[in-house]
Amino acid sequence: MKYVSTRGSAPALDFEGVTLAGLASDGGLYVPEEWPRFSPDEFAAMRGLPYAELATRVMLPFVAGSLTEAELSGLCQRAYGKFAHAAVTPLKQFDEQQWLLELFHGPTLAFKDVALQLLGLLFETFLARSSDQLTIVGATSGDTGSAAINAVAGRERIDIFMLHPDGRISDVQRRQMTTVLAPNVHNIAIDGSFDDAQANVKRMFNDPAMTDRFHIGAVNSINWARLMAQVVYYFAAALQLGAPEREVAFSVPTGNFGDVFAGYVAAQMGLPIERLIVATNVNDILHRALSDGDYSAGNVTPTAAPSMDIQVSSNFERLLFDVGGRDGAAMAEQMRGFESNRGMHLTNAQREGASKLFTSARAEADDMARAMRWAYEKCGEVIDPHTAIGLHAARVAELPSSVPVVTLATAHPAKFRDAVERATGVRPALPARVGDLFAREERYETLSGDYEAIASYVAERASAKD
Ligand SMILES: *Cc1c(COP(=O)(O)O)cnc(C)c1O
Repeated sequence: MKYVSTRGSAPALDFEGVTLAGLASDGGLYVPEEWPRFSPDEFAAMRGLPYAELATRVMLPFVAGSLTEAELSGLCQRAYGKFAHAAVTPLKQFDEQQWLLELFHGPTLAFKDVALQLLGLLFETFLARSSDQLTIVGATSGDTGSAAINAVAGRERIDIFMLHPDGRISDVQRRQMTTVLAPNVHNIAIDGSFDDAQANVKRMFNDPAMTDRFHIGAVNSINWARLMAQVVYYFAAALQLGAPEREVAFSVPTGNFGDVFAGYVAAQMGLPIERLIVATNVNDILHRALSDGDYSAGNVTPTAAPSMDIQVSSNFERLLFDVGGRDGAAMAEQMRGFESNRGMHLTNAQREGASKLFTSARAEADDMARAMRWAYEKCGEVIDPHTAIGLHAARVAELPSSVPVVTLATAHPAKFRDAVERATGVRPALPARVGDLFAREERYETLSGDYEAIASYVAERASAKD
């Protein structure tokens, strides 16, 4: 399988190449040259497979040329064997139409584990082949950092430096990062905001003094391998609900458009998806783009669903490229316009293409709290604020009653227990697997927001390229 950039001028790469590259060299994102498709018989044969085996079947076409089936299968067994639920992503029922797909049974209680547990193993496998060394540098406002650290802790040939804004993430989120004491894990608390931390990371990616000496890598959701791993649970849920004979809809709490783009990929592969509902909070750039073509960034408003407090959704470019006719030069031009104006309009082809599969809804704080109460009072399920935004959107979508609607549960309620308690009166307990989080030793460095101080900290501790 070859991958091409959405902006048309970076070289085509194989799966190993795109996994290690992250962003394409022309600033675009990598997508498969064509979508693999399964026949109805192949879908039927996937029913009832254990998750790791299903994952191997679904992902095999994407890794062709870089991993054998046996290698991929081994990695899936290792990545998903660690999940706390035997089904990995269990499906629950709310009522006749509404369902819940729990994606938070990984080590750090958010859906990001599903992709990052595999990505850590992919990095290790590919780096060993090329005898390369990777220095992952990232900034986090919470969930991504802990999932990434957990995925690469103790792995050969990888160092990870994760910046977080000092005092501005929850105690659970901080401890999930800082209590990982593996020698290749380096947590840095920055005096400043998340945006300050992020600006330092971007600067390091463009600093030749660093990039000449170190192979600097990223783990954000622009990495194709993460999206690929997320396609699998759409299959898992739809097959349980009657696919390929029956159509299913999904409601996805969305920030960077990564998780819901994986649903789009599943549909291109032939999974009968009736609708993908893009659920946003008041940071609603995607809702505006999908409902009236206006993709313009405003300022971020902090909400109780912080992992969706995003104004620019990097992965949206992948959708616009695919539904807009796969014209890399035109996409590059459109994105240059967006980058200089902080806004753009979708073309007619993009709007029509997107509307075939996507609808969207925006949830206010009240809608979110009401959805949490409905889930708890009517169905006995405690859900987190991100999931509640998805459930709200699912319930207002007015789909035909024959179509099951699956809301993706992106975080464990205990991860956001203050907001859950405010809405429902219930304070969810941390699951046993992280139960001693508050007793564990923490280790992190506190640095000023000064770039030079951060760069020299990284340079002193990272392993140089071989
Ligand atoms: C990251 C995250 C999201 C948003 O996912 P995207 O792939 O960025 O759309 C939603 N909910 C939770 C809990 C998350 O951690």
